[in-house]
Amino acid sequence: MAKGKLRTKKEYLDALAKKRRNIYFDGNLIDRTDELQMTCINTMSIPYELAQDPQHSDLMLAKSHITGETINRFTHIHQNKEDLHKKQDMTRMTCQLAGGCIQRCMGIDGTNACNAISYEADKANNGSTEYHKNFLKWLERFQKEDLIGCCAQTDVKGDRMKRPSQQADPDLYLHVVERKSDGIVVRGCKVHNSEASIADEIIVVPTRALLPEEKDYAVAFAIPADWEGIKQVVTIHNLRERKHYKKGFMQGATDSYTIFDNVFIPWERVFICGETIHGAVGALLFALFHRHSYSGCKPAIGDMMLGTVALAAEYNGIAKASHVKDKLAEIIMTSELGYAAGYTASDLGKPEVYMPGFGFVPYGPGSYIPNSIYCNVGRCLTGEAVYREAEILCDISGGVTATFPHEGDFLNPETSELLKKYTMRNPNINIDDAIKLWMHAGDLLCSASGGIMLVGNYHGGGSPVMESIAITTQYDIEARKKMVKRIAGIKS
Ligand SMILES: Cc1cc2nc3c(=O)[nH]c(=O)nc-3n(C[C@H](O)[C@H](O)[C@H](O)COP(=O)(O)OP(=O)(O)OC[C@H]3O[C@@H](n4cnc5c(N)ncnc54)[C@H](O)[C@@H]3O)c2cc1C
Repeated sequence: MAKGKLRTKKEYLDALAKKRRNIYFDGNLIDRTDELQMTCINTMSIPYELAQDPQHSDLMLAKSHITGETINRFTHIHQNKEDLHKKQDMTRMTCQLAGGCIQRCMGIDGTNACNAISYEADKANNGSTEYHKNFLKWLERFQKEDLIGCCAQTDVKGDRMKRPSQQADPDLYLHVVERKSDGIVVRGCKVHNSEASIADEIIVVPTRALLPEEKDYAVAFAIPADWEGIKQVVTIHNLRERKHYKKGFMQGATDSYTIFDNVFIPWERVFICGETIHGAVGALLFALFHRHSYSGCKPAIGDMMLGTVALAAEYNGIAKASHVKDKLAEIIMTSELGYAAGYTASDLGKPEVYMPGFGFVPYGPGSYIPNSIYCNVGRCLTGEAVYREAEILCDISGGVTATFPHEGDFLNPETSELLKKYTMRNPNINIDDAIKLWMHAGDLLCSASGGIMLVGNYHGGGSPVMESIAITTQYDIEARKKMVKRIAGIKS
């Protein structure tokens, strides 16, 4: 297949540097390539670097269904089950290399959702709209230029028990405020948008199911992250810097409050506008694709936790204790059950979605959607387990993760040798390695970044109750009741 142009890290950085300044951090307007954002940029660049490496071609590259060219898989629309499997495995591999979230899944999940809803909305409108044509034109450029997308789904939502149209302020969910001949004007604020501050494009989809009268909230589009009228207020999650005891890879992340202050979106960038049913499916589909991504990233984060706990046990000299083995087994079981759920979701993937009252129905232009039950059970199981895994690390490490001295004290001649003497636990372990491990365990467990990662892993893709709702509404519980009635001899 013909090779499209695969972007290099340098080209990505150059493009970021040219963008309009609209990133606010702690009261200041900053450049996208500000030093503070560099760890996050380095994390985001891993897939660019891997895509250039022939040994990773199978996972990292795909064939565009639009142009037939070779593209980065993170910009691909899943054409078959194999694509779903490869997306899961690519996600696990890249997260292992990053030592945590790779931050590219929101883009691939948002584009796959918009691909399906734009097609179905046109069909429902009997050809009076051109959403899918708009989407494909946008996607072709996105793939050719090998861009990074983020997804802005989560609205601020105001009072959680009220619908968008019932809120005290209509802007608490992003909505259309004006329709013009050449585009629409939108207002609202999307929150917790991972890596929006270093993305090329922001893909916007609705947060939730909508009533027929909530047409203005049924809007999906993609827009450059520095577009006129958009302000991003960013939080940047960096670990404590180290000069001597350097980590092998410094992971970073950012999340934005993305404020749309009467932003004009040209029609050619709009993928639905007013189609409430497809807005609801868009909300569901982004979450579903994202929960499938979790079946790749969460096992990788489990791999990180498992390795850290196993090393902590070894460095503490307790590796052979039976309770340690039980706890390692617990992390492995959760990670691999999550992976297996994702694998099954890929294998049972079809161009179908679940429609309440109708069951699973064909949806979209034939692109593949992972099985919903398995995506949801996998995400729920592994998402809820993150605090348990942190608890295991806390247990096996002891208090050292919380109070370990700063790097400078290990370098200061007055304290260095004394601290090394009293850090030693297992005499077979090199003391500098032990220092690095306890600093790393502290990063996972006690740093601001570690805490943020736990919240993200718990809530990202939807709070656990959202998965419970999806599972119980889509699973055939009635069929199980019938089975039991037959066995129990219940006739009514
Ligand atoms: C680090 C991080 C990164 C993220 N990245 C992204 C991203 O890139 N893009 C994106 O769009 N989103 C992102 N998210 C958002 C994530 O999807 C949401 O946090 C999640 O959907 C929960 O929404 P919320 O935070 O508004 O919590 P809430 O919805 O307010 O949940 C709080 C509690 O209220 C409950 N609740 C909410 N509504 C109701 C109701 N009507 N009835 C009963 N109970 C209710 C919930 O179940 C939960 O227990 C990210 C979140 C985090 C923490």
